[in-house]
Amino acid sequence: MNVPEIFGSDVFNDKAMREKLPKDTYKALKKTIAEGLPLDIHLANVVANAMKDWAVEKGATHYTHWFQPMTGLTAEKLDSFISPTDDGSVIMEFSGKELIKGEADASSFPSGGLRATFEARGYTAWDATSYAFIKEKTLCIPTAFCSYNGEALDKKTPLLKSMEAINRASMRILKMFGSNATRVIANCGAEQEYFLVDREMYSHRKDMIFTGRTLFGATAPKGQELEDHYFGTIKTRVAAYMRDVDEQLWRLGIYAKTKHNEVAPCQHELAPIFDTANVATDHNQLTMEIMKRTARKHGFKCLLHEKPFAGINGSGKHNNWSLSTNTGVNLLDPGKTPAENAQFLLFLVAVIKAVNDYQDILRASVATAGNDHRLGANEAPPAIISIFLGDELTGILEALAHGDRYEGKRMEMEIGVDVLPHFPKDTTDRNRTSPFAFTGNKFEFRMPGSRLSCGGPITVLNTIVAATLDKFADELGSAGNFRQSLEELIKREYKNNSRIVFNGNGYSPEWETEAAERGLLNLRSTPEAIPCFCHEKNVKMFSLYGVYSETELKSRVEILLDEYCKTIKIEALTMADMAKKDILPAAATYIKELSQTAQLAETFGAETSFERDLVTRLSKLAAQTYENLGVLERELGECSGIQGVEALANAFHDRVLPAMADLRTAADEIESLVGEKYWPYPTYGKMLFYVM
Ligand code: ADP
Ligand code: MG
Repeated sequence: MNVPEIFGSDVFNDKAMREKLPKDTYKALKKTIAEGLPLDIHLANVVANAMKDWAVEKGATHYTHWFQPMTGLTAEKLDSFISPTDDGSVIMEFSGKELIKGEADASSFPSGGLRATFEARGYTAWDATSYAFIKEKTLCIPTAFCSYNGEALDKKTPLLKSMEAINRASMRILKMFGSNATRVIANCGAEQEYFLVDREMYSHRKDMIFTGRTLFGATAPKGQELEDHYFGTIKTRVAAYMRDVDEQLWRLGIYAKTKHNEVAPCQHELAPIFDTANVATDHNQLTMEIMKRTARKHGFKCLLHEKPFAGINGSGKHNNWSLSTNTGVNLLDPGKTPAENAQFLLFLVAVIKAVNDYQDILRASVATAGNDHRLGANEAPPAIISIFLGDELTGILEALAHGDRYEGKRMEMEIGVDVLPHFPKDTTDRNRTSPFAFTGNKFEFRMPGSRLSCGGPITVLNTIVAATLDKFADELGSAGNFRQSLEELIKREYKNNSRIVFNGNGYSPEWETEAAERGLLNLRSTPEAIPCFCHEKNVKMFSLYGVYSETELKSRVEILLDEYCKTIKIEALTMADMAKKDILPAAATYIKELSQTAQLAETFGAETSFERDLVTRLSKLAAQTYENLGVLERELGECSGIQGVEALANAFHDRVLPAMADLRTAADEIESLVGEKYWPYPTYGKMLFYVM
């Protein structure tokens, strides 16, 4: 495989544009993209035609506006390029109009009441900052998806708006420092965790098929306690799968870089090299899609659920986030000169303040039914938001804020005069228990679940930091003595917001107590977290930047809570089905077998204590399971009468989830007692350890 040759070969990227477009069209398009201007129709016609020729040459027959509805997945509706001619044949056509804008009858996408079904149309518009690409013989045009009133129906539109917000706010600050940059870009590198299980075994598990996770399952004799999987040798079959995925990603111009085994058995990670946040979001969506599709070919099922198995780690998607200028400066990198350092400290303190002020929506941005099983489960960050800065950086900020000496590296530091010591990455990245860690020149947000689009959390992060930087810019802009005001601001804001900084063990129970004392939020579940989007301060902030209007926020809360309820309802129904149709019958069959054996054995006076004992225990557990099943069904039934999505979500959380847990406990105990050949499903042991 010649990687440089295949890399980006399925993408209408800069190289392809230069080759396929007339020179002046190429220049005009580049300018339009760089300045974020709307695309002129004459220009679009030329571009569309060249794009089509390029795609057809590569075997494409269709095109689609590829978009990211609020389901968190991607959507596409394919149109072929064919256009009839007078003589009954066809030619391949693609117009500028079709490139720029698509119509999507989108009444079946969740809109949270934004688009009444009688006004079913939405439209999609090309996001020219993300290249078109070919997937499955289809030219895909990355697009934003809006209602005809201009309300965002997708994850991309708000993300693009937040990129603009962070650009404008950061540029105000940079101008004060005399920077010659003209644009600030938010970057994202998304580390993607996933599980691979054998497809044949998967196909025997209703729970995985319907819900993506196991709803029953006794623990295997072995879990992850030997710590022998993390970075372990990759099994041949898995390695072949990974190679296949890499190749496809490279063809799509995705910088797939790192792959390794993760902590849990059958768990792996793929990390690309970071990119502009909106491109990284698109690329991550494609990565997930390709990971799933490729698994089939290799006899695997790729699980992207946040918690497919109880008792071992779940999967996250660490969002590494930073800000950089179009002149190549990373604004979260401590610089080499006093001025660069002062600027770095200002951006750092802005992030600290933003995260402290908006803990609620940062937490809400990662809230899903699946991720609730992960956050706070002593393997992933807790549901409490805090920032890890590392001892060195914290020491410096503490010393600055309190006018002390910082003994580790230097005596008294003066902002804008002294140079900060450089923080090598190794000393700052030791804490894996922090939800939001500074790792040398970027922040790593570790709460997002493996399935989540990067769009949501990055939109929130961009916007809250933009809002904070704007406040700083207002203050500094009207100050007399810039350097002095800067120093005062950094000290004050660090002091006022330092409660969010925590370098200790985020998994420890003591932290929960301490965090409560510090007044930090602990939003344990999705129904608690999601409504925060509509709190007044958040509505104000989002609408100020045009990222989400109040209507859009309301609709999003509605959609997210509705999704939560539906997810749990499907899980509960699946459990009930499994208990009734498979688990109780399995128990009954085994009980019958044991009873008959005992009866037979007794006819010649043999010992039957084993059969009797097991029959007694199993019968008890089966009765318990049956009773718990009844409770679950009753709770579900009562939920169906509840009005209002918030009340319903709370009921699912407070009543249905505990009933599910009880049902599982009893059934799992049955599994641990029943003979293997009587059990209807592949066990945890088989699924997690038998993959060759
Ligand atoms: P780890 O967190 O496992 O130590 P890496 O250091 O390889 O991993 O980084 C993880 C991710 O962070 C990668 O996707 C990488 O490209 C991304 N990353 C590195 N630098 C930046 C940056 N300045 N901004 C955003 N993401 C970055
Ligand atoms: Mg990392």
